[in-house]
Amino acid sequence: MTGQRISRVMIIGAGPAGMAAALQVARQGITPLLLERGETGGLLRNAHRVENYPGFPGGVSGRRLAGLFRSQLEEAGVVVSRAEVVKLDYREGLFVAETAGEKFRSRTAVVATGTRPLKPEGMEISPASAARVFYEVAAAREVSGEEVAVVGAGDAAFDYALYLSERNRVTVYCRGEKRRCLPVLWERCRREEKIRVVSGVQIDAVGSQKGKLLLEGVTSQGKDVSAKADSLFLAVGREPAIDFLSKQIRESMDGLREKKILYLAGDVKNGIFRQTAISVGDGIRTAMEIGRYFSEEDK
Ligand SMILES: Cc1cc2nc3c(=O)[nH]c(=O)nc-3n(C[C@H](O)[C@H](O)[C@H](O)COP(=O)(O)OP(=O)(O)OC[C@H]3O[C@@H](n4cnc5c(N)ncnc54)[C@H](O)[C@@H]3O)c2cc1C
Repeated sequence: MTGQRISRVMIIGAGPAGMAAALQVARQGITPLLLERGETGGLLRNAHRVENYPGFPGGVSGRRLAGLFRSQLEEAGVVVSRAEVVKLDYREGLFVAETAGEKFRSRTAVVATGTRPLKPEGMEISPASAARVFYEVAAAREVSGEEVAVVGAGDAAFDYALYLSERNRVTVYCRGEKRRCLPVLWERCRREEKIRVVSGVQIDAVGSQKGKLLLEGVTSQGKDVSAKADSLFLAVGREPAIDFLSKQIRESMDGLREKKILYLAGDVKNGIFRQTAISVGDGIRTAMEIGRYFSEEDK
């Protein structure tokens, strides 16, 4: 089935960047086509406490902030179309997004798809244990009263630990001796008696035994270690989620961006500078550039 209508603006991803872009596009009098494969709010829904988004003294949970973004989007009359874009192509002057059942066409496209998680290098996860291995806490809100393991040493790992410790006992496994998280997160984890941090251990196999996960690894001194857990959360880094871009788009990316018809906004393009306020700013700016593109055309 092929969608007949050609949108002026198609936004892929309804995380903070895509939602902000959609809001501003709508404000400029253009109806955006906003495609989202999951829940609106994106990665932000995982954040335990956001304390660096202006306007929220005392902080706000990522889930609540994402909910507020969603309400504002609804208020502006922006409709979110539930669909995963499996391929984005550019043909005969139009962007064509393919989803499982439909094709959507547009004159400009905003890729606001954020990042996808990396799997720890060399880690073997047995098929029997895979259902208890998660990459996002937002995908496992039901985890409660469990022994939970987290692998990672950055902000996300310690933020996950804080979130999970509200209802579970948590052990964080860090490969190196050094943590790479914000001091404030470390301090909070250190003070939380339900969180234990084990440094210098690389978990390299996840199996299952008597209904539990069996984590096996090695210490930095080469000693074998094993531990049990009910669930495992992996937070060892992320990479841009751009696998759905066609070869043709990848090859002509610079040209399409120079023509001001293709935009990347938010975490998908921000390297290590992955923050909500940056993504929101990117989304707003992108929408304003798109507004300018169409107003120049109308002259
Ligand atoms: C644990 C944790 C704590 C954090 N804490 C903070 C904090 O305190 N302060 C702060 O500023 N930031 C924080 N962040 C970072 C913040 O969540 C991100 O910077 C922000 O969500 C990025 O927004 P985005 O819109 O660029 O990408 P994302 O939020 O990743 O949104 C991308 C969206 O695109 C959708 N998508 C992807 N591919 C497709 C496709 N092919 N088709 C359709 N839809 C697709 C996804 O489902 C997702 O909804 C935290 C992140 C984590 C994980």
